[in-house]
Amino acid sequence: MLKVGHVVTRPGRRLGDAPVDIPVPEELETVPGIPITSREVDFYSREYPLQRQQVEHAADTEWAPSVGTEPMRKYQKEHDSAMEPYYALMNASGDLEATGTPTGEDVTELIKAHARELGYLEVGMTAHDPRYIYQDRRSHVKYTHAICLALEQDFVETQSAPSMAAEHGHYGTYEIQAPLGLKMVDFIRSLGYQAQVHGPSNHSAATIPMFVAAGLGQLGANGQLLTPHAGARCRLQIITTDAPVTYDSPVDYGFHAFCQVCQVCVNRCPGRALMREKVWWRGVEKNKLIYKRCRPVMARYEGCAICMKVCPINKYNAKVVMEHYIQTGQVLGKGTHDLEGYTLHPDSSEKYTFGYFGPGELPTFNGEFFEIPKGTREEATMNQYIKVISKEDPSAANPESDQALFDFRDRLREVIKGEGVSDSTMF
Ligand code: SF4
Ligand code: SF4
Repeated sequence: MLKVGHVVTRPGRRLGDAPVDIPVPEELETVPGIPITSREVDFYSREYPLQRQQVEHAADTEWAPSVGTEPMRKYQKEHDSAMEPYYALMNASGDLEATGTPTGEDVTELIKAHARELGYLEVGMTAHDPRYIYQDRRSHVKYTHAICLALEQDFVETQSAPSMAAEHGHYGTYEIQAPLGLKMVDFIRSLGYQAQVHGPSNHSAATIPMFVAAGLGQLGANGQLLTPHAGARCRLQIITTDAPVTYDSPVDYGFHAFCQVCQVCVNRCPGRALMREKVWWRGVEKNKLIYKRCRPVMARYEGCAICMKVCPINKYNAKVVMEHYIQTGQVLGKGTHDLEGYTLHPDSSEKYTFGYFGPGELPTFNGEFFEIPKGTREEATMNQYIKVISKEDPSAANPESDQALFDFRDRLREVIKGEGVSDSTMF
């Protein structure tokens, strides 16, 4: 039996549920939140500002549907048309005037209670940290306080990952969350303040650092926020506001050290995209995900999400996992088919490997599998033209013709105008 270092008390899973005590073993204690070197975060945010995935990795974002399944492409159209009206409303939400009269009193508890009534699993407050704002969204973000809101994704659907059902769970949660965020904005306006919703998918900043600062979880080795009740099986959203609120503090749930013992997601990742050891990256100590090894798997196997599905915190919750660890010194479920097994479906990508993979078994892929277009849209446009004029592109019959040059110019013009950068993150 391990010694308990401290106990974290969180609100129950649903509104009205009793609070939950999560014991954190002394040997897993590190720091509240995540180890961070603030001056390095300052430096990187200034010299190498963050970009949205749709911008930094635009080339593979445009490529991904071409290798996805037909049901995924069909679902993308449905999802994008369901979300399109919300993007416009969410992007304009910060300009809406307040409808009520402000009292000047702290409205933290009113906002938290309303979020829980609407069905959010977790809600917390922190400063909206400008260091994490994406470069092309800097002029978009209004207001300095961040309300961090996590909505749980369906458990059963997620456990079937990778699958279309899991993708419906993923993107279906966005379709619920978008109107909920707008309801939160309306509620804050009724209190006499202004508010602006960011996300799902049309985020203005990297969300996880602010959720960690608000005490809602810690970063897992799978690169996702581990929340105490549902692990990474949450979809995140931030509302910025000028309403007077009290900030929460980061919490040590023991996850930062637990991941080094657990390693289930690292062991089970089909792309070998997750790092066993932590490194310092942009001023933060973390297990850094290797994007170019994850992306080809996600694109071909229905969003993959195996690292979310196999995480014991997602499957059993933090209280159960930590109590088991204290009793036995073991990671609950590790090495079992129930936790670690998954199936890659033949209809996902029958060109590549498929079938059931139990504990200790991993699919293998050839080098071609990991070759994907790289970079921004500008870089991809230039790379494509280089291929044309060096006659590497068999579709270009006459690379020296003016037409090839005109096509390059027209594409570059579209890119420079920023046309076609979507708020959607599907694929
Ligand atoms: S989504 Fe799949 S490929 Fe990507 S890190 Fe997770 S398990 Fe690995
Ligand atoms: S599976 Fe284990 S190592 Fe991976 S995020 Fe979950 S707790 Fe951490």
